[in-house]
Amino acid sequence: MSDLQELYQSVILDHNRKPRNFGALEGANRTADGKNPLCGDHVQVELHMDGDTISDIHFTGQGCAISKASASLMTAAVKGKSRAEAEALFQRFHALVLGQDPNAGKDLGQLVVFSSVSRFPVRVKCASLAWHTLKSALADDSVMADTAPTVSTE
Ligand code: ZN
Repeated sequence: MSDLQELYQSVILDHNRKPRNFGALEGANRTADGKNPLCGDHVQVELHMDGDTISDIHFTGQGCAISKASASLMTAAVKGKSRAEAEALFQRFHALVLGQDPNAGKDLGQLVVFSSVSRFPVRVKCASLAWHTLKSALADDSVMADTAPTVSTE
């Protein structure tokens, strides 16, 4: 293992042991649930949206070290970001873990620690689960909002 890979590994282990933003979020107004049955990972993402800004974000759940560390690093990366910025970050992160773009790690900060995941296809879902869950939480305009409109499609 190279020094760089060892460093990446230690960041992942650290976030797995001491996940950031872990636990229920009081006052959350968006939430989503994500599951990766291939590995047994399960994550819930709770957001507090202030207009278009993710003013706070927490996660709960359980899963393998990769999924937990990824959720932890994801929450740290998108807190304070706008919805569009968070979605753009997800696109770059996705390209990184799929190994699609050698420059994808640029501007990703600590998220670059997941670059080696692209060599382990079965782990890609573990690393991207929290991001997919974030995306559905961002798209969720009704759940937990106290003024949720009643929509009828009939
Ligand atoms: Zn997993």
